[in-house]
Amino acid sequence: MAAPRHRRPVNVPEPMDDTALPSPVAMDEIVALCKRRGFIFPSSEIYGGVGSTYDYGHYGVLLRGNVKAEWWRAMLTERDDIVALDSAIIQHPKVWEASGHVGGFSDPMVDCKTCKLRFREDKLDLGNCGRKPSKLPGEGPDCELTAARQFNLMFKTQVGPLEDSASTAYLRPETAQGIFINFKNVLQFSRKKPPFGIAQIGKSFRNEITTGNFIFRTREFEQMEMEFFCPPDEAPQWHQHWLDERMRWFVELGIRADNLLLRAHEADELSHYSSATSDIEYRFPMGFSELEGIANRGDFDLTQHAKHSGEKLEYFDQASGERYVPHVIEPAAGVDRATLAFLVDAYRVEQVEGRARTVLSLHPKLAPVKLAVLPLVNRDGMAERARRIYEEIKRRVGAEYDGGGSIGKRYRRQDEIGTPWCITIDGETADDDSVTLRDRDSLAQERVKIADLPALLADRLEAAWTSPQG
Ligand code: ATP
Repeated sequence: MAAPRHRRPVNVPEPMDDTALPSPVAMDEIVALCKRRGFIFPSSEIYGGVGSTYDYGHYGVLLRGNVKAEWWRAMLTERDDIVALDSAIIQHPKVWEASGHVGGFSDPMVDCKTCKLRFREDKLDLGNCGRKPSKLPGEGPDCELTAARQFNLMFKTQVGPLEDSASTAYLRPETAQGIFINFKNVLQFSRKKPPFGIAQIGKSFRNEITTGNFIFRTREFEQMEMEFFCPPDEAPQWHQHWLDERMRWFVELGIRADNLLLRAHEADELSHYSSATSDIEYRFPMGFSELEGIANRGDFDLTQHAKHSGEKLEYFDQASGERYVPHVIEPAAGVDRATLAFLVDAYRVEQVEGRARTVLSLHPKLAPVKLAVLPLVNRDGMAERARRIYEEIKRRVGAEYDGGGSIGKRYRRQDEIGTPWCITIDGETADDDSVTLRDRDSLAQERVKIADLPALLADRLEAAWTSPQG
């Protein structure tokens, strides 16, 4: 979402009833699972880490890739009124003047003269004073907070070998502006006319004053943004359409509806150009917080870029002879925040036969691995048979072979990475060409013919799915 804007504290509703409570899952458990199972690691760890920057390991890459694939599916495959774009991270510096980011993309920052740390004034309730025992900034007897001053969140860099003001450039703080500056290009080649959208996924950078809560707020993150251009009088109805569509997307991918909230911005929170913005909030471990913003941005962006660039950014409707600047509806989501929400929603620890079982009940479409192929034991030709089945099936469905350790341990490992199905190759497989198919959530086991597996898994992957946690 573009600047200038007014940031607000993380919204934690009044604790009047259950819907206001934070997730019962502790963030530390998610962080530990992600490290243990190779989803997400603190970046530069061997050098002591670099604040709030994370590296995605094998399963994290697959999970995030699936989140993005599902977004593309909803934006492109399932509709024909949206086209894709991949714009540059470093753009002309005037882009950020026109958008208002140079002048106003800032947060109020306070310094503590005692512990020398810096905090976001509007998020002091989430900060930690540098002294022990740690309290909220300003709470300790020695805390001495300065008055707030505005801190611009854009990362500055320089293009070319000369370090002067003419070479100043910025890492983009959002992907949206790359879309607006390509409006004319897309209009010319795509033969679309409003209402139509341009969608983009890519990295964005914000020099956040306070980071934290794992991958919820980091300085380098990925966004999934779509700008939907429509005739001005249709903007309210398209805004409603995208509110419904984006809520549906999260629910169909298994997020429990109770853990989602649609919160309309108050008048004093709205950016001056936005007539309506709603956030989809998720019940994160620290409370309900923004997952995605859906704004009616009016004609602000196209008008600003037209003014600053001298290009006409409008649509001429040949049928009616009408010329107008389209209005824009923007659903803006974070890949990392969405990934975190899917992980938190999927995580549970339950008792099975007196032992704790940790499971990630991810929607099968999001699960990094769909099927694990496991020989019951490594003898009597079971491993060779299992390998052959694996080589065949991995062409059709994301599969993993695991031949080491007890079958119980291997199941547990697959449960923790969220694999919805395991097949076990046992002594009978050689006689009846069947395997045991185990379901991650119900723990049900059924005997299935090897030849039937691809079609059966394809059906189950496409079937509607709801969280086993109700
Ligand atoms: P917040 O108030 O939480 O800082 P925002 O309103 O500034 O968010 P937008 O500018 O609307 O966020 O960005 C769209 C989406 O990009 C957010 O809903 C979020 O999912 C993601 N996002 C924004 N900033 C970050 C960040 N620092 N780290 C991770 N994801 C982010």
